[in-house]
Amino acid sequence: MPESPLTAALLDAAALLLPVVCAGCGADDRALCATCAAAITPAPLRRRLPDGTPVHAGIAYGGVVRQVVVAMKDGRPGLARRLAPLLVAAVAAAGAELADGPPVELCAVPSTRRARRRRGYDPVPLLLARSGLGVARVFAPARPHPAQKTLTRAERAAHLDGVFRVRRLVAGRRFVLVDDVVTTGATLAAASAAIRASGGEVLAAAAVASTPRRVGDLPADPAGAPWGLPSGAW
Ligand SMILES: [Zn+2]
Repeated sequence: MPESPLTAALLDAAALLLPVVCAGCGADDRALCATCAAAITPAPLRRRLPDGTPVHAGIAYGGVVRQVVVAMKDGRPGLARRLAPLLVAAVAAAGAELADGPPVELCAVPSTRRARRRRGYDPVPLLLARSGLGVARVFAPARPHPAQKTLTRAERAAHLDGVFRVRRLVAGRRFVLVDDVVTTGATLAAASAAIRASGGEVLAAAAVASTPRRVGDLPADPAGAPWGLPSGAW
C-alpha cells in the first residue's frame, strides 16, 4: 500500500514519540519500512487440501512475510492493516473460481479462548475486519490443543480431532474458510470437516499466506504457482 508523503511524515513524527522497529527487518523508527512494505505486495498462489478443496493465499509464506505475520499475531495488531491486501487478494481469487449458486459466506477458523486472552485480540477476525470483509460466526472457540509446529501432518490431524465445534446451524450453507497462514493444511482440513459434519459445504479456503507445497504434504496442483521457488527462500 503506497504511503502519501503526508502519511509518511506523520508516521515518522509518531515514531519519535512511540519508538518502533520495522516488523519485517528490525530497522528503527518505522512499523514497516518501505522495503518490507514492498515485499508484502500480493502475489496470489493456490494449493489444495488433501480432499481437493482449493486453498488460495495472498502470498508465499517466508522471509519478511513471515516476520510481519508473526509480529501481527504477537502483539502488533496494527500490522493487520498492512496484511489486509493479501487476504483480499486471496478471497478474490477464491471467489473468482466459485460457480454460480446460493450465496457463499466467509468463515474464520477460530482460535482458542486462551490465545485470545493472551493476545487481547483475535488475528483472523481482525484481518477480515481490516479487509472490509464480513464474516459468519459459525464456530465456538477452538478447544485447547498442543502446539503443532514440530508435528507431522498425521500427528497434527490427530491433535486437531474435536478441536473445532460448530455452534450455529450450517446445514445448506456454503462457506469459504479463512485463516491467517496455511502450512500443512491440517487446521483448515479439521475446520472444514467440522462444518461438513454439520451439513455445511466448504467450497474453498483463503489465507494471508501459505507455505509452498512440501514433500509428503498436499498433492500437486497444476494450476498452482509458484512452487518452483529457489531453495533457501524458505
Ligand atoms: Zn523493514
